[in-house]
Amino acid sequence: MSLLELDDVDAYYDESHILRDLSLSVEEGEICALLGRNGAGKTTTLRSIAGATPPTVQDGTVSFQGTDVTGDPPEDIAARGISLVPEERRVFADLSVVENLRLPEVARSSTNRFGRSVATTREGMSMEEVYEYFPRLDERREQRAGTLSGGEQQMLAIARALRQPTDLLLLDEPYEGLAPQIIETVERAVERIREDGTTILLVEQNAIAATNISDRAYVIDQGEVVFEGTGEELQDDEETRQRYLGV
Ligand code: ATP
Repeated sequence: MSLLELDDVDAYYDESHILRDLSLSVEEGEICALLGRNGAGKTTTLRSIAGATPPTVQDGTVSFQGTDVTGDPPEDIAARGISLVPEERRVFADLSVVENLRLPEVARSSTNRFGRSVATTREGMSMEEVYEYFPRLDERREQRAGTLSGGEQQMLAIARALRQPTDLLLLDEPYEGLAPQIIETVERAVERIREDGTTILLVEQNAIAATNISDRAYVIDQGEVVFEGTGEELQDDEETRQRYLGV
């Protein structure tokens, strides 16, 4: 059984049919890359997994740890151990680093929109653990998040996600706009997070950066899977790279 399985998923924004019979699986313990051009449907796929609406999944199933979670509210999916770090790196600009990192504790004791408690007995990573992955955040505990560099904000967004119990981390273009040196720092952290047991689904436009650290990759185009294989197989598949990734 795969950790995550999408079977023939069709997702829509209103009438707009975006994901078309999309099937993919993520195995426990791997880093899996989801690649494709602008508008291919990568973010839509992550949002469909995390239960974020829009889009709406109108057909097909999303299963996590063998349970059908299609259409479940995002709070419930998060409580099952799926954490999404969205593309916009939403950190709370006016709060300090440490205050941002404490927010998941506050959220854990709240209720979801149906008034049900989503409190979980499981804990995410401790502050000390996330500082180990990202020493830069440790040095800047009291700094206002809005004044962090783009790379530091990305680290904070990932660190905050890990403060919730996380079996599967969904990363949406974590390297976007970052200098090569910072990309490397984030890459090393992502590899360590995986080594310590968290499975990762990594969305990237930068196919080279993504396949460097991925075990397997999917390429999607117009909401359909057009390639599935190892990073090496993708490197060797010039036609797929040129046609769907432009590299
Ligand atoms: P990018 O790399 O540019 O972020 P992507 O592969 O993540 O692209 P998506 O953001 O999933 O692509 O978008 C897939 C399609 O869905 C695009 O045609 C986009 O215009 C459309 N789309 C995305 N969000 C919405 C929305 N809220 N309402 C309507 N259409 C949307």
